Amino acid sequence: MHTHTTPITTAAIAAALSTARAKVADNKRWYNALSKAALELAASPWCWYATVNTLKIASRTTPGTWYIVDNNGCQCPAAKKQNPCWHAAAKRLLERAGEVAPVAPAAPARDSQADVDFLFN
Ligand SMILES: [Zn+2]
Repeated sequence: MHTHTTPITTAAIAAALSTARAKVADNKRWYNALSKAALELAASPWCWYATVNTLKIASRTTPGTWYIVDNNGCQCPAAKKQNPCWHAAAKRLLERAGEVAPVAPAAPARDSQADVDFLFN
């Protein structure tokens, strides 16, 4: 079950994952965090607030606990010890996924010639 405020497709996450993995290929901890993040995004409930770059995601180890990951980082025990955590990796993936597949733009305003004629003639 996923709850999204912004539709981000699995394909967009997969694309973001391959890009992100390439960037951290020499950093095994981040690489592993990214891999775990992609798995967890498929398995755990989460909510992505694109406008404020914030991810709310369920703790894997503490049922009923949710972590908020924003531009200041994550609140989980690993992050507090300055370790790469998969929550932060998941946030990066979702940011990138949003860039890969931007939210569909709103339908263009109907600015038909008839309306223009009505308003200005
Ligand atoms: Zn974390």
